[in-house]
Amino acid sequence: MNKDYRELRTPSRILMGPGPSDADPRLLRAMATPLIGHLDPEFIVIMDETKELLRYLFQTENELTIPISGTGSAGMETCFCNLLEPDDEVIVCVNGVFGQRMCDVADRCGAKVIRVEAHWGEIIQPDKVAEALSQSRAKVVAIVHAETSTGVLQPLEEIASLAHEHGALLLVDAVTSLGGVPVEVDKWGIDACYSGTQKCISCPPGLAPVTFNQMAMNVLNDRKTKVQSWYLDLTMIGKYWGSDRAYHHTAPITMNYALREALRFIREEGLEARFSRHEGNSRALIAGLKAMGVHPFVPPEHRLASLNAVRIPDGVNDAEVRRRLLQEMGIEIGGGLGEQKGKIWRIGLMGYSSQRRNVLLLLAALERILTDEGLSISSGSGVQASNEILQGAA
Ligand SMILES: *Cc1c(COP(=O)(O)O)cnc(C)c1O
Repeated sequence: MNKDYRELRTPSRILMGPGPSDADPRLLRAMATPLIGHLDPEFIVIMDETKELLRYLFQTENELTIPISGTGSAGMETCFCNLLEPDDEVIVCVNGVFGQRMCDVADRCGAKVIRVEAHWGEIIQPDKVAEALSQSRAKVVAIVHAETSTGVLQPLEEIASLAHEHGALLLVDAVTSLGGVPVEVDKWGIDACYSGTQKCISCPPGLAPVTFNQMAMNVLNDRKTKVQSWYLDLTMIGKYWGSDRAYHHTAPITMNYALREALRFIREEGLEARFSRHEGNSRALIAGLKAMGVHPFVPPEHRLASLNAVRIPDGVNDAEVRRRLLQEMGIEIGGGLGEQKGKIWRIGLMGYSSQRRNVLLLLAALERILTDEGLSISSGSGVQASNEILQGAA
């Protein structure tokens, strides 16, 4: 081979899609910290601090609160394969792509999957879950808190109570909510929960924070069969993260540095301030888009601040708009997934990417592109509407 490979270089981007989000430059710097061993006493200090900070973020006292090696889907798989045994019944709520993925994962565990569905863009109704619970012997009710494919935020407390009344556990996907909107594991009665690092935690993809309460631990400890996956078996991983410190697999050291720093930044900002930043920037973005004739996909009461789904105006070329945003302005937004492909845009305002200047930049960029696409937009209307919201909030 005589090909010359040039040094790795990537264009400058603003990440406003469904993830990954931008990372704070301070975090990227922390990732250049020299390696130490995964059993080094100093690494154990980092592990302990990470567990403490994760408990703060999940708002839980759960002992088993750790990052799994792998992306958000590894967190999903960890929860399902540790809680379910072959022939167990599981209720899976489906109103988007990630509910569908949960069905696939549960099915591969050998469980019997009972689907409770809602239209994409709507929440799962608790009475449908109640009906499924009364007609089954479900061990687990699984539900997505923030459905990234639609931008819907699912209320959880009522469904938690229903699951518990029927002796089932509540398993929650908080991949796009954790760090952006409140996730109150203990107060809401969530038994098992997983997330991913690259959405509202604003850390590169690679780890999946997971938390299990005592009820979930009891189910795990009472298993009749071994966990199907060796790599994701929490009885063994829990020993590495617990007092045994027994080697299981080599922890991804650099990713753990990054998560520890990302969590420290979250702690530094404070949960309240962080959630209201996400909320304010989302409201400003939606106000600006509406003023330009781009309307939200989800009704206001169920809108997710970290992922803003909007309808693509009639006659506008989806691919061309996103191409120009990326190539000319360096801004990434997401297109629709599954049945919403070509119909919606998904604009992420997650973690470090949730900034006023990003909102204003995107509105200005879209105004120009949509005007070229033939939409009649009065100049500066989006930015002005957005600014009014931002100033009202300040
Ligand atoms: C992104 C996402 C996942 C999957 O996470 P990966 O990091 O892509 O594996 C799961 N659930 C939801 C709701 C997500 O947004």
